[in-house]
Amino acid sequence: MSRRTAALASVTALALGAAASASTGRLMDETPSAAGPTAQARSAALGRCMIGGGLGVQMSEGIPTGPGYARSTGTVRALNLMVDFSDAPGEGRALDRLGEFFPQTTDWFRTSSYGRVDYRPEAPVQDWLRMPKPFKKYGIERGAPFDPGYRELVDDIVATADPDVDFAAYDLVNILVTPNAGPSALDTVLSVTFAGNHEAPVADGVPISNASFVYSRQDDGSGSYDQTGYRVLPHENGHVFGLPDLYTQDGGGAVGHWDIMSEDWGANNDLLAWHKWKLGWLDDSQVDCASASGTTEHLLTPLARTGGTKLAFIPLTKKTGYAVEVRTRAGNDEAVCRPGVLIYRVDADVDTGHGPITVSDSTRDSGGCTRSPNVHAELSDAPYAPGETFRDRDTGVRVTVAGADLDGNYRVHITRPKD
Ligand SMILES: [Zn+2]
Repeated sequence: MSRRTAALASVTALALGAAASASTGRLMDETPSAAGPTAQARSAALGRCMIGGGLGVQMSEGIPTGPGYARSTGTVRALNLMVDFSDAPGEGRALDRLGEFFPQTTDWFRTSSYGRVDYRPEAPVQDWLRMPKPFKKYGIERGAPFDPGYRELVDDIVATADPDVDFAAYDLVNILVTPNAGPSALDTVLSVTFAGNHEAPVADGVPISNASFVYSRQDDGSGSYDQTGYRVLPHENGHVFGLPDLYTQDGGGAVGHWDIMSEDWGANNDLLAWHKWKLGWLDDSQVDCASASGTTEHLLTPLARTGGTKLAFIPLTKKTGYAVEVRTRAGNDEAVCRPGVLIYRVDADVDTGHGPITVSDSTRDSGGCTRSPNVHAELSDAPYAPGETFRDRDTGVRVTVAGADLDGNYRVHITRPKD
């Protein structure tokens, strides 16, 4: 088993802990942090494509995202607190720890959202915030639920920071723990987010309901930490915006490197178009809903480029469907080695960490086209090229890549049998 596989397995265990705590969240009637997309008016034409999950799903791929998560468009104010302990004292300046994540995280969100997220990191406390108890007293380990350890930690963070911080002024909280607290991320990834948790401790009148915790450095020793080490934070913040984990117990084999919620080590990557629509980074007019029977043609522009149609969605049931998009090596996508049409199944009834999205591999068992470290190789050449066809035998749905033009736009033919 590779080191990376071990790391991914640990992350999975953690995600389940986070999901479990998210379930304790309750909807508030009037929440100032209701997810942005919720409020958007939806065109009737997209109705069948707005799939949703059942009530038992804690963190769903469904659209719209439920209330309680941080807003995902416009100005997003992020409170950053650098935390240390008597048995894990911060090494170096706390602001240097902040510098491991910024400005890269801000840039990542600006690029991925086409400028729709104005992410403002603030650090009103510039020194290490020393917790009253040693790290080991909080019982933080992988998969730890919110209660009791994290509640205790959040209580102590609030009490220690409150004289200098107006918690009500922020949309989300990043707790950047000193990297020497807890195990190496190469062995166990502790980083976790508790999202939409309205039973969280209250500070300055607001619950600390969307908080990401980042621990040991995700440094694979390849010498790229300065460029890639920040990527755990956009992943964790993805949860505060309502996105589920796409990796499973088996690691990144379901989605590969096509979304930062699947793999956040190694070369930079973007989000799937489905996630961008869910977050409100794509307008409804940039989504084609292929719900009619027969064959329809769709012109898709590369996901990394601003403007144009980005997503064709083929609803199968009220909870599932296929998504079709164009991925190229541009923007936040650094590791794309076979540009083309990416096709994946979305199941809004499958929970975080259990494989809500599955990418269809156009070249099964090929071994992939990348040797980039920490990039799931097999799915790296998953996109379909002109002349190739995806077929779903169960439903009779067909997607044919009819052609690509010189600007990198793809023509796609979607065929679905009569309902
Ligand atoms: Zn996660």
